[in-house]
Amino acid sequence: MEKWPIGVFTSVDAGLGVHLDVAEELGVPSVQIHAPHAETRTADAAKTFLGRCSDAGITITAVFGGFEGESYADPATSARTVGLVPRETRAARAAEMKEISDFTTHLGCEVVALHIGFVPEDRDGDDYKGLLDVTRDLLDHVKENGQALHLETGQETADHLLHFVSDVERDNLFVNFDPANMILYGTGEPIAALKKVGHLVRSVHCKDGKWAAEDVRGVEWGQEVPLGEGDVGMETYLRTLDELGYTGPLTIEREIPEDRDRQKADIGHAVRLLEELRAKIG
Ligand code: MG
Repeated sequence: MEKWPIGVFTSVDAGLGVHLDVAEELGVPSVQIHAPHAETRTADAAKTFLGRCSDAGITITAVFGGFEGESYADPATSARTVGLVPRETRAARAAEMKEISDFTTHLGCEVVALHIGFVPEDRDGDDYKGLLDVTRDLLDHVKENGQALHLETGQETADHLLHFVSDVERDNLFVNFDPANMILYGTGEPIAALKKVGHLVRSVHCKDGKWAAEDVRGVEWGQEVPLGEGDVGMETYLRTLDELGYTGPLTIEREIPEDRDRQKADIGHAVRLLEELRAKIG
């Protein structure tokens, strides 16, 4: 693949992504997809989706898992409900993530990804150790499928993410870097964070956001905005990725599924912005 193929975050029937027709209309060469619901996570459905992608010249670069019961209402609710961190659902969700990894093999894709949740801060605590165990077990399954697992950033600081990846001690755990999430969750300046975790970054989101007011940062969301209109600094972001030697896809995310027309228009603008910056930097 060329350097920095532009991509779009898509969904089949679950998650916040746009439907594949938007990627087809925009003529982008790559997509990440949010895994479909369990009922449609079949070999037949994968074959149909893959066929459409092939016809449109689109490569699937990652499949994201997500789970029933997750809520991103505010940072505290996310911490309580997202990923493999909540204890009550941990085993069931880990099993589901293995199924998603199996489904992904039908899509000919070697990357699965997820929001693992807010990694507990205490590295000696039972919650942290439990999360390590379940992550290792998942990674071993993912590896048997010839895949790597990418963790979406944002819910912890870059330093803590480095601790966690190091403590897991597996060679197929990497990072899907989302610069806007660092701002939205208030977990750190994105460019500095990118430099810290850069050696682990194997996929990225191109998404933008504005910081919440300082007194409520981390308690209330920042605001997700169209690419180029937020506090990330897209040119600096791409220059930093270039310095790190990152040549993988630039996958656009715009999380306003409630307004599909605006979502599509904003993604169209984002494609053009990335093409301009790529011509200038890449
Ligand atoms: Mg993201």
